[in-house]
Amino acid sequence: VPDTVTLIALQDLDTSCDQLRYRMAHLHEDDVVEVVSRERDTIEAAIATARVSQEKVTARLAELDRLTDQGRAKRARLDAQLRSVVVVREAEALQREIARIDAERDEADDEGLSLLAELEALKETEEANTTSLAEVGARLAAALSDRDAAVAQLGTELEGLVHQRQQLVSALTPELVTRYEDLRKHLGGVAVARLVHGRCDGCHLDLSAVEIEEIKRLPDGELGECGQCGRLLVH
Ligand SMILES: [Zn+2]
Repeated sequence: VPDTVTLIALQDLDTSCDQLRYRMAHLHEDDVVEVVSRERDTIEAAIATARVSQEKVTARLAELDRLTDQGRAKRARLDAQLRSVVVVREAEALQREIARIDAERDEADDEGLSLLAELEALKETEEANTTSLAEVGARLAAALSDRDAAVAQLGTELEGLVHQRQQLVSALTPELVTRYEDLRKHLGGVAVARLVHGRCDGCHLDLSAVEIEEIKRLPDGELGECGQCGRLLVH
């Protein structure tokens, strides 16, 4: 097999490998994983926020309980004082204080009721989000499994190509392989171009009639070179 044939086969194979690697790096399945992960993060953040809010509400309810207990104890003391007081002015002062304590208790009761409703709503939100989280978790697991399957499939394809590549490379001299690799590195992965209708299909520039003649007159297996882009040229 002439080097030109091996080289063009190697180039086609490497182009396929590059395309496979590009597909592996830009998997649609990766995007799905990304989107579903973000969805999960949002729900987890909402659950965390709902929990913090519940803790605040619960703490405030406990504080209200404590204040109500204090108020009740104080009111009992004032009631007892009121029963033994004889001066009208003092009795009135005690009654005003008792009325103030009752008003505070009413306020605390109202606040407590609205906090209990809020707590209930927060729990419902958390429960709904927990249900969503389970659903999103299942979708994420499926997305990850799809992604892994896609990666595995492309990986197997790539392995097969890499194996074929080794066989082609072993048929070339190390010097030619080095030249090929260097060109690939500097010319966007394409080291070998074909001469198609007098045009280099690497740089898409027309060759002069003299250049075309020179390349066509090369003995089989001998490599031409594009005068414009420097790629190895086969015809
Ligand atoms: Zn060229």
